[in-house]
Amino acid sequence: MKVPFLDLRPAYNELRDELDAAYRRVMESGRYLLGPELEQFEAEFARYCEAKFCIGVGNGLDALHLILKGYGIGEGDEVIVPTNTFIATWLAVTHTGARPVPVEPDPQTFNLAPERFEKAISAKTKAVIPVHLYGQPADMDPIIDIAQKRGIKVIEDSAQSQGARYKGRRTGALSGAAAFSFYPAKNIGAIGDGGAVTTNDPKLADRVRMLRSYGSRKKYEHETPGYNSRLDELQAAFLRVKLKKLDEWNERRRGVAARYLNELGDVMGLKLPCVPQWGEPVWHLFVVRQTQRDKLKTALLGARVETLIHYPIPPHLSGAYANAGWRVGDFPLAEEMANTVLSLPMGAHVGPEQQEIVIRAVREICRH
Ligand SMILES: *Cc1c(COP(=O)(O)O)cnc(C)c1O
Repeated sequence: MKVPFLDLRPAYNELRDELDAAYRRVMESGRYLLGPELEQFEAEFARYCEAKFCIGVGNGLDALHLILKGYGIGEGDEVIVPTNTFIATWLAVTHTGARPVPVEPDPQTFNLAPERFEKAISAKTKAVIPVHLYGQPADMDPIIDIAQKRGIKVIEDSAQSQGARYKGRRTGALSGAAAFSFYPAKNIGAIGDGGAVTTNDPKLADRVRMLRSYGSRKKYEHETPGYNSRLDELQAAFLRVKLKKLDEWNERRRGVAARYLNELGDVMGLKLPCVPQWGEPVWHLFVVRQTQRDKLKTALLGARVETLIHYPIPPHLSGAYANAGWRVGDFPLAEEMANTVLSLPMGAHVGPEQQEIVIRAVREICRH
């Protein structure tokens, strides 16, 4: 048996009847944008995240971008971002004209280190974007504390943390606003692209709602040069079906993680993810670290276990920022992670036999 890193078909098979019914319902309604499915999904997802408002948008990158625009952030401003994140966190800032200011993570949790964030604040800092990386909540209380004292907005990048809790509260309603992605591989994924903004701030909710639809509240009245970034009716209908499963599927991911943690804990040279006591993670990814990462990856593939690297090139060394002046060695923690991280197969549909194969293969390969 082969263990793929991710197979999205079992999720469809489990929900086939309901997803097919959702498809027919939307097709027959003749309403494909900004209709009742979106309205209901927004209400349901806001309730799920314990937030007052949810605004469905086109994808996770747009969710981040529209929050920043909604706060009026742009040219001349600085936004603090983690060095170790998916590049979208940075690009959202860059697309507003503001400058991303990278800070290195806490080496234990991989997440934003509050004291490093504080040191990076300048007179131009307008916001900070902690990322709940791999589905592990960042340590939000000290971050929010520092930000409030300095008048800085806190924006959660929750693209990988649908359903995760921090000190009992859901990610997505912990700070000023949060950005979600419903990219198919996320814990709750659309059948295509999708995203959402959650917030308790009525003014921001109103601005984002206006910006996602050409800067207009009333058809053909355009208050500002807005965007076209709407979560369509089909995706909203599919997401409503999947939202009902999210807690159960996250629980299954926790089962997979518990088993990996249990049965790989004594493997020499393999660093397992740490789970700080403030968080209830949702294990978007299960990321181990190994100095001989590339060898391990190749050997696992030989044992028919597929793995991925999240992420092989840190944003500051990517072509997108080639002109920004960063060099190898500027952010050693992020660079070390890029060279040592490896994501094992993880998901609600990675069954017990597949888990067994992964565990046996990792143990066998690391013995040598
Ligand atoms: C997936 C992801 C995004 C972007 O989401 P898209 O829907 O692909 O635009 C942003 N930030 C992080 C951390 C992500 O993992």
